Amino acid sequence: MTPERSDQPASPGPKDAVHVVPRMPEPDIAEFASESVIIFDTEGAVHYWNPASEALYGWPALTMIGRGIGHLSTRSENEREHWRMLLQEGTWQGVVSRRTPSGIHIAVDIRQYVRFAQDGTPRDVIEYGRQSLSDGAVPGADWHIPDRLMAASWEIDVSASDALIATIARLRDEAAAEAQLNARYKDLVKAARIVNVNERTMRLVGGNRGRDLMIGQPVSGFWPLESRATLGELIVDAMTGKTEDATYRRQMPSDGILRDPLVTVWRAETHGRIYAAVNGTVDDDRSYVYLRASEARYRKLVHHMPIALWQVDASHMGRIYNDIRASGVTDFGAYLDEHPDLVELAATTVQITDVNRAAVQLLGGASALDLMRPVGYLFTVNRRSLHNVMIGRFNGQANYEEITKVETLDGRVLDVRMSVTYPKVLAELDVTIFSFEDVTERMSMEAEIRQLQADFTHAARISTLGELTTSIAHEINQPLAAIVTNAETSLRWLSRDDPNVEKVKALTARIAASGRRASDIVQHIRGMASKRQPERVATDLNEIVQESLIFIRHEIESQSIGIRTNLARGLPSTMADRIQLQQVVVNLLINSVQAVEAHSAGKREICIDTHRTENGALAFTLRDTGPGIPPDDIDRIFEGFFTTKEAGMGIGLAICQSIIAEHGGSISASNHPGGGAQFRFVIPVEAPDGSA
Ligand code: ADP
Repeated sequence: MTPERSDQPASPGPKDAVHVVPRMPEPDIAEFASESVIIFDTEGAVHYWNPASEALYGWPALTMIGRGIGHLSTRSENEREHWRMLLQEGTWQGVVSRRTPSGIHIAVDIRQYVRFAQDGTPRDVIEYGRQSLSDGAVPGADWHIPDRLMAASWEIDVSASDALIATIARLRDEAAAEAQLNARYKDLVKAARIVNVNERTMRLVGGNRGRDLMIGQPVSGFWPLESRATLGELIVDAMTGKTEDATYRRQMPSDGILRDPLVTVWRAETHGRIYAAVNGTVDDDRSYVYLRASEARYRKLVHHMPIALWQVDASHMGRIYNDIRASGVTDFGAYLDEHPDLVELAATTVQITDVNRAAVQLLGGASALDLMRPVGYLFTVNRRSLHNVMIGRFNGQANYEEITKVETLDGRVLDVRMSVTYPKVLAELDVTIFSFEDVTERMSMEAEIRQLQADFTHAARISTLGELTTSIAHEINQPLAAIVTNAETSLRWLSRDDPNVEKVKALTARIAASGRRASDIVQHIRGMASKRQPERVATDLNEIVQESLIFIRHEIESQSIGIRTNLARGLPSTMADRIQLQQVVVNLLINSVQAVEAHSAGKREICIDTHRTENGALAFTLRDTGPGIPPDDIDRIFEGFFTTKEAGMGIGLAICQSIIAEHGGSISASNHPGGGAQFRFVIPVEAPDGSA
């Protein structure tokens, strides 16, 4: 096709009749034309100047009406000669140089036609113009014409439908029933292929798919259903019309895209091709077939959304799911595990029909076309995610979300939050929307913070162990001393004349027990000292309390502090990190021991209590007979680095708080009415994220 025809406006002519050249613009139609339409009087003064002329030349109509053509011309001396020739010959076509208000010269492709009065004398001159392509302009690209002024233009190939057109022509002659004709008209539109479309058509019905994806497609895929028969009828009119330049037009009902669209069809120079131009303003009536009406706006919105979006047509999968459901399958996850080929089918056949700019940016594509493929490439790193998406659709969910990984076109792997919005069951269009949000940075930051926290907790444990060296040494020395004593006694029994084997047996058993005990303690300390990832296992809170007491037994005994425990029986276990919980209990115990130690007067006691709360959580309470916490400090003691001790670090309680919070619980401090401090933590039996 000749490019300058691609933006061809509706050719002018009376509204309801076939019209033959010369094309006579009715000013009201010219108002909507995408081409510049100017009417000059025979003297060359501007009589009419349409909005497209304003857009092209930059001169408002008001300033041009009445002015001579010389005002526009860059070489007005030639203009007079040209005008004389034009009036003589009746028509002229070519490229001229025109002047804009800013002084720039633009090359314009113009066609001028003289209109004659009844008596044969020239009446006026109509000029159609648009920026010349020889000027380096791309069709449409440099035309800053407001959207509503442009016609949505199409070049359509109907060369394969000669037989069908002939059949329709015959049926018309036979005055066939309308329904019969309409069916044929629709067939014709289905068989008609898009050769080219202009910007406006693309924007209105092509979405972001771009021209390339419309070209070669059946016109019916993009033409509103309501007016397909009318288009077919106009095509037959144009193809069977006597004169080549005749234009055929129909006013059509609003189709939800344009209000009262006016479609004009005429035959192209190339055999078997026709042009169609649709004029009309974008339908803004929100009450009208909402889906189509908002499509243009929706696409624009989606296109500029800062979040990466993919539009997917999975309608055929929807049908497959229906069949599977009908066959009685309810656990689709299990079904997919048995039929992995179904996931592969989705990966290779579910087509992406649209993507926005952010999507192209996220995956590093050159254009939307790079991403307009079957969905499989979104799930190369994590096929399981596609599996999950399919289950969501099968189960009729409204949406689905997960954190997954996606590979960019240049091979990077991103952590993304994928959200899928499924079509409503009875929606007119089967459109699934995928959005991907890059969370790579956030994830790595979170991982770093987690690592820092782990390092810190570990450092605190080591420092706690440092404080406990006497206790630990004592704890290990005890069984070692027992081993030595028992071994010596055994030796004595053995060295007697009648060795007492029974005694030796009993003593050896004690030696073994003491050895195991020492090894248990070493194991514990190693656990506290080791650097490891926290892990959640079924943990018994009472066991934690007892193990923790071992660490500080020596301190307690040497300070003559009494320990009273009241541990509830039959507590359920909780999913927790043993070492971390132990760290909390040991920290609280050390603080209490230190508090009691510093408090010379009164009873020296630490009471520990465990129980189940009313709502089923596990509670741990520890009370000491120390001085208690000064009321001013009570809000601050959980802050990092808050300490009232000379050699204190002030991190013990802060770590306790973060560990308990990580376990989904809470910790608090108070002063007991009877004196001393009281600490209490509560943790749920279930892990906070529901996982192990
Ligand atoms: P540190 O023990 O190094 O000071 P912590 O975070 O464990 O750090 O404790 C912070 C502060 O809380 C202590 O300095 C002390 O003032 C107060 N505190 C903690 N436990 C008790 C307690 N059982 N009795 C009184 N005050 C306490």
